[in-house]
Amino acid sequence: MTEGHPEEIPEPFELHEIPHELREYIRYPKSWEAHIMDNRPREYCHFKAPGEEWFHLLLPGEIYLQYGHAKFCLNCARRFGHTTDDRLHWQRGPRRQTENPL
Ligand SMILES: [Zn+2]
Repeated sequence: MTEGHPEEIPEPFELHEIPHELREYIRYPKSWEAHIMDNRPREYCHFKAPGEEWFHLLLPGEIYLQYGHAKFCLNCARRFGHTTDDRLHWQRGPRRQTENPL
C-alpha cells in the first residue's frame, strides 16, 4: 500500500445499473494523465462545449484528463475524439501518436 493512502477499500454505497459502457480509453495514451479535481484552485476545461462561449469549470471530485498543462473534462475529451468507449480501439488502425492534440 502506498504511503498516505487508506488501508481499507471503500464499501459500496448502493448498487446501480450501468446505463452504458462507462470505461473510457485514451486512443494514444502517451503524455496523458487522469486526475480527480480537488477544491482549489479553480481550473477550467481546455475546450468550450459547442454553442457555449465560456470555458466550463471542472468541479470538485470530477475526473478529468490532462495533457501538458491543458485539462479536459471527459465530455470534451470524448467530443474531440481523444477518448473512446471502444475497448478494441487499439486493434483498429495503426497506432499513431498525435504530436499536439490541442
Ligand atoms: Zn470540457
